[in-house]
Amino acid sequence: MEVDPVSLPLASPLSTATGTIERREGFLVRLEDSPGIGEAMPLPGWTESLEGCREVLETTKSVVRKRGLDAALDELDPSETPAARHGLDLAIADRHAREAGQSLAASLDPSPSQSVPVNATVGDASPEETAERASAAIDAGFETVKLKVGARSIGEDVSRVRAVRDAIGPQPEVRVDANAAWTVADARRAIDGLVPLDVSYIEQPLAADDLDGHAALRDRGVEIALDESLRDVGLDAILDAGAADVLVLKPMAVGGIRRARTLALEARQQHLDPVVTTTVDGVVGRTAALHLAASLRIERACGLATADRLADDFAPDPAPVSEGRMVVPDALGIGVDPSLRR
Ligand SMILES: [Mg+2]
Repeated sequence: MEVDPVSLPLASPLSTATGTIERREGFLVRLEDSPGIGEAMPLPGWTESLEGCREVLETTKSVVRKRGLDAALDELDPSETPAARHGLDLAIADRHAREAGQSLAASLDPSPSQSVPVNATVGDASPEETAERASAAIDAGFETVKLKVGARSIGEDVSRVRAVRDAIGPQPEVRVDANAAWTVADARRAIDGLVPLDVSYIEQPLAADDLDGHAALRDRGVEIALDESLRDVGLDAILDAGAADVLVLKPMAVGGIRRARTLALEARQQHLDPVVTTTVDGVVGRTAALHLAASLRIERACGLATADRLADDFAPDPAPVSEGRMVVPDALGIGVDPSLRR
């Protein structure tokens, strides 16, 4: 196992839990002999730190030498070092798929989707600017737009969504993500304003640990999706509380695509519908997340259209967005082979 540091410039700065970042920094994990590749791309607030990830991967190298890949994977705690675990798990899964002569999606499920619908994400801006950006996304072929809300008053956010609905018409799906910005009273007011605008779901309206609050917001005409809650309280607590209709899965934050797949299948058994999103990963992590979504045959738009958040990448994108969908590469494994070192 080899670990190569990588650093990708962002197209525009990204705000995180610990401040604004201008680059995505992490590691490519490579398996020799029979090849396999994985990506460990930590993101502050969602995973271990870059330094923590580096240390763990260094230790993991010697565990692999002494005890093998599967034992090394077992030692990586998905809640303590999810990005490092994602890197090794993906390298192993990529190797398995290549050895089986299959794409990663096909090695995870015998009948994966050939393409996955994806959403455009529109950040905070005035109603006019928000509507313009949403229209541009629809013109580019997206059928779902996700609007960031919670930075303004409820009244202003509802006006932004109304401006979008007026601009794009009744057909496209509109969803919003509040990133835990609201109180229960805020969320109720927001729901009253958003239901007539045919918003499909509100992602993380309340604090991550407020599961009873989220449960009480369900069945009011708009679905409730949870994202940060999965990170902070875990799937069992979400299921026990009946807190959501939709579960947002970030493979890098849960410790790998195979763990994300297990969580997705568990969620589905309890009628909680999964979607997959990236954490603005490089092409290896992003394409692996696409294979995962295809293996789950997800029909809701996923948050995988994040290539344009990067100004540069390890390798050409094998799955560019076209007409609001990403086609799953049918090459062996992930279908990405970054040869360059950065
Ligand atoms: Mg979110």
